[in-house]
Amino acid sequence: MSTPYLRLSGIRKDYGSFTALNDVALDIAQGEFVCFLGPSGCGKTTLLRIIAGLEVQSAGRIELGGRDISRLPPAERDYGIVFQSYALFPNLSVADNVAYGLVNRRAGKAQVTARVAELLALVGLPGSQARFPAQLSGGQQQRIALARALACAPSLLLLDEPLSALDAIVRVKLRGEIRSLQRKLGVTTVMVTHDQEEAFAVADRIVVMNHGGIEQVGTAIQIYREPATLFVADFVGRINALTATLEAGGLRLGTQVFRCEHESLSGHAAGRELRVYLRPEDVLARPIPDGDSNVFEAQIDAIEFMGPYCLVRVHGESLGSAKLTVYLSLNYLAEAQLQVGSRLKLRLMAERMRVFS
Ligand code: ATP
Repeated sequence: MSTPYLRLSGIRKDYGSFTALNDVALDIAQGEFVCFLGPSGCGKTTLLRIIAGLEVQSAGRIELGGRDISRLPPAERDYGIVFQSYALFPNLSVADNVAYGLVNRRAGKAQVTARVAELLALVGLPGSQARFPAQLSGGQQQRIALARALACAPSLLLLDEPLSALDAIVRVKLRGEIRSLQRKLGVTTVMVTHDQEEAFAVADRIVVMNHGGIEQVGTAIQIYREPATLFVADFVGRINALTATLEAGGLRLGTQVFRCEHESLSGHAAGRELRVYLRPEDVLARPIPDGDSNVFEAQIDAIEFMGPYCLVRVHGESLGSAKLTVYLSLNYLAEAQLQVGSRLKLRLMAERMRVFS
């Protein structure tokens, strides 16, 4: 990365004897869209609030554009923020809500009016100046909150679960709009979310957090395909977790030894028990090449309809006691006349079997 725009180093936050964040370090580039993703209580909101100055870190340093802002009050930090709960002033009109920061900065009346109109057009609600928050839907209120956050053209946009109070359809629509707005303005953005699909959809990079620390930082594909830790593998996406023994020819699951071509296999001693992680889409029903050592016979235990594909749970002697989840298309299930109890051949993708000790 070129010089980071936002740099966090050694961030620690203690609440009494409880450590909510422990030695967090992170660099974010100018114009980047970064998501903090993690389970409830992992510290993502605390980290965002520390960047905002709404919470004071117990230790560590925050730099924004090369300036140490660690001890500055929120008003001197140059960011806009949107909260989960809209947080609009109910007694102020849309125009006054959006203008709030501008008026505080003593901008002229004509300038404020023009800027409010510009911002409302930007968030897709032109002409809504005279309305009040109670007359708006949740999605519309969040657009106004976004306009308010952007009013003073901050260099940093902080979003604290801005979509989680909205229903599914509005959420998907608004996240796309936030992403394109962010691209258009080029504003460096940090968003907290516990929804991985949301993080995948909008982020340039995702910071996966757990227990007050960072587990992995990477693009959605890096995190999905190459989870750095067992936690990330379990937390992000659906996964099959198997226990195998390392033998000369590969990984023994049940009665069969499977070839593994993932680099994570190197360095492990033969005879060791290992954890093998494999995504459902990396177990294939076709093609099934003749004589491939990763082909095995399985029996279907359950089929769960998911729309265009089904989650199919299988077992087989080759796998030992393990059960696997695989994705099979509805078309394939019909074509091959597969149902619960049917037997079929499957193949584990050797290059996708990620090994953890
Ligand atoms: P969620 O998705 O549930 O909001 P989060 O990852 O954002 O979770 P935080 O709100 O950052 O989690 O909280 C991190 C931890 O710090 C939690 O265990 C929380 O209980 C604790 N915590 C947060 N604020 C305080 C506080 N003011 N006093 C004591 N403990 C706190």
